[in-house]
Amino acid sequence: MTDRDEAPKSVDLSTPNAARMYDYFLGGKDNLAPDRAAAEMVLGIAPQIRLAARQNRAFLGRAVRYLAEAGIRQFLDIGTGLPTQNNVHEVAHTIAPDASVVYVDNDPVVLAHGRAILAGSQNVHIVQADLRRPEEILDDPEVRERLDFDRPVAILLVAIVHFLQDADDPEKVVARFRDALPSGGYLVLSHVCGDALPEAVEPVTEIYRRSSTPIITRSTERIRGLFGDLELVEPGLVNVSAWRPDNVESKLITERYPQSYFLAGVARKP
Ligand code: SAH
Repeated sequence: MTDRDEAPKSVDLSTPNAARMYDYFLGGKDNLAPDRAAAEMVLGIAPQIRLAARQNRAFLGRAVRYLAEAGIRQFLDIGTGLPTQNNVHEVAHTIAPDASVVYVDNDPVVLAHGRAILAGSQNVHIVQADLRRPEEILDDPEVRERLDFDRPVAILLVAIVHFLQDADDPEKVVARFRDALPSGGYLVLSHVCGDALPEAVEPVTEIYRRSSTPIITRSTERIRGLFGDLELVEPGLVNVSAWRPDNVESKLITERYPQSYFLAGVARKP
């Protein structure tokens, strides 16, 4: 490995970044002026994205709760993000304090933030790695020490695969993680979908193209394909708000936006 390979990804705070834009959509404080400006441009084109971000976050919480209640005690959450509330380990530990959670992200700002939040937490670890190199994650010593892939484990790819470009071969990347799951393991995945708002796809994509984290919306069929042969649990692949909604906001949004805009599913390896 060369020095260049080992150098940490530089922190450029003057270019908008999707993790911080997402934080802004969620009403968080971990964002800067360029992130807010880009996020406001996105909202000008598609105001429902603020709600979609909140609904995605709520889906993540419901999915983790569902899995913890189903007996899952190991979570590999790839694409941790900045949020300070309803983090995966907090939701899991409400049900199972012994659940082991490993977070993975490639953004140094997210990692620093995550480490600050996690200081002192039991059974929670954070690893710097890139989704585009699955082996780096699956072979990471911390991941291997904390998670036993011979026992049921849930791999979470929530609002991250849309950061993979087609050249990164998202199908192959996600298949590698599906293959790593033991029988009884789960894949949780959400992904922005362009089907409901075709006219917004190009302008929104263009804003993210100028960020440090370009985003690619994909069709319902391509997103469905990411689950491969795994068995989607009820209600299948649906909008984030429609996945086992447990609050009024989710139910109202499901009625208002029935078409695919941000799809989510939880699938079990037979
Ligand atoms: N999963 C959380 C946060 C989503 S934000 C949620 O749904 O609420 C997306 C996160 O993915 C960001 O923190 C970003 O830094 C991270 N990310 C994007 N591309 C990545 C990659 N190639 N490897 C690892 N992390 C990545």
